[in-house]
Amino acid sequence: MATSDVINERVGELDPSRRVLLGPGPSDVSDRVLRAMAMPTIGHLDPEYLVIMNETCDLLRAVFQTENELTLAVSGTGSAGMEACVCNLIEPGDEMIVCINGVFGGRMQDVAERCGAVVHTMEVPWGEIFEPSAIADMLAKHPKTKAVGFVNAETSTGAYQPIPEISKVVHDAGALVLVDAVTSLAGMDLRIDEWGVDACYSGTQKCLSCPPGLAPVTFSPAAAKVIDERRSKVQSWYLDMTMVRRYWGDERFYHHTAPINMTYALREALRIVVEEGLADRVARHALNHRALRAGLEAMGLRYIPESSLTTLNAISIPDAVEDAVVRGRLLKEFGIEIGGGLGPFKGKAWRIGLMGTASTERNVILVLSALSSVLGSIGAKVDTDAALPAAMGVFGAG
Ligand SMILES: *Cc1c(COP(=O)(O)O)cnc(C)c1O
Repeated sequence: MATSDVINERVGELDPSRRVLLGPGPSDVSDRVLRAMAMPTIGHLDPEYLVIMNETCDLLRAVFQTENELTLAVSGTGSAGMEACVCNLIEPGDEMIVCINGVFGGRMQDVAERCGAVVHTMEVPWGEIFEPSAIADMLAKHPKTKAVGFVNAETSTGAYQPIPEISKVVHDAGALVLVDAVTSLAGMDLRIDEWGVDACYSGTQKCLSCPPGLAPVTFSPAAAKVIDERRSKVQSWYLDMTMVRRYWGDERFYHHTAPINMTYALREALRIVVEEGLADRVARHALNHRALRAGLEAMGLRYIPESSLTTLNAISIPDAVEDAVVRGRLLKEFGIEIGGGLGPFKGKAWRIGLMGTASTERNVILVLSALSSVLGSIGAKVDTDAALPAAMGVFGAG
């Protein structure tokens, strides 16, 4: 058995490298957020912490563009936000329509089935999006549907699913709109109230540029009413909003110990978003995406068809280029992380995120230069000289 001296020698003080995080999340975290996290831990019922919770909720409402009272940060990552939205709205036997065009719609189906929902899935090929009329047809076929769930920004394919038209057909059928906004909140335009979203979740480590660990959620008054009128207990004790909201609300009823320092981090990340302004932040993501796209396409790389997110760029890996070799060299030689493909895109796609703090002109130039260098050195059939001028052209015009 190893003595503590031996372990101490082998396991040194933590010293992770500074990476440039341009994958599908986590994204780069600013020093301001890291400093906020390092502030003294106080009690989860300390009056000072209760003020911090309230401020965090106010900031979340501003960033979600909502007046929803039931808006808070679930303890857990984006997937916990997904479970929180689904398990609070769904009771065993309820019908739910889930739209699947990538990994995360598939995950939502799994979550809904575990909550006892009778799930009607709608599928289109990965990368494509859903027509509101198709969803209306599905609702006509299943008139008892309680909620329709879909992904606004499908991180596995780059597909952007517009919200307002779908909200209309779902509300016309008397159902609730449940949206995954993990890769859109604070990076792309997202208007919870104006667009009629009833339940929405996100994660801290994508466009909010905060470490992973919290899941912002918001429920409309209609969704809150459904939760109030449940006949059965919420299937998950931990994510039960009827209890969690008593802790975040005036009652301060103890439910579980909130991750105090993560709340500090989220509060600071949200302050940064509000300081920049949502419109300017969305415009920054759009400009940097356009420049990266111009550079990649000038090299001869192709986007996954219909990939149009400004927060995540999903591109096809050129023929005869080995995925792992290129991503490994980007990380080792340049400290840059980009993402590989998932599911049917495994080994076939790269996913380059430009999220939050990481969406900068500097990172666009950096990743284009690094990719040109690596692809050029392995003899890939790409035009390595074309990328930078194309991107600079966009910045010059922007
Ligand atoms: C990342 C992601 C999730 C899951 O979030 P985790 O923080 O990894 O649990 C869900 N939906 C989408 C669209 C995502 O990009």
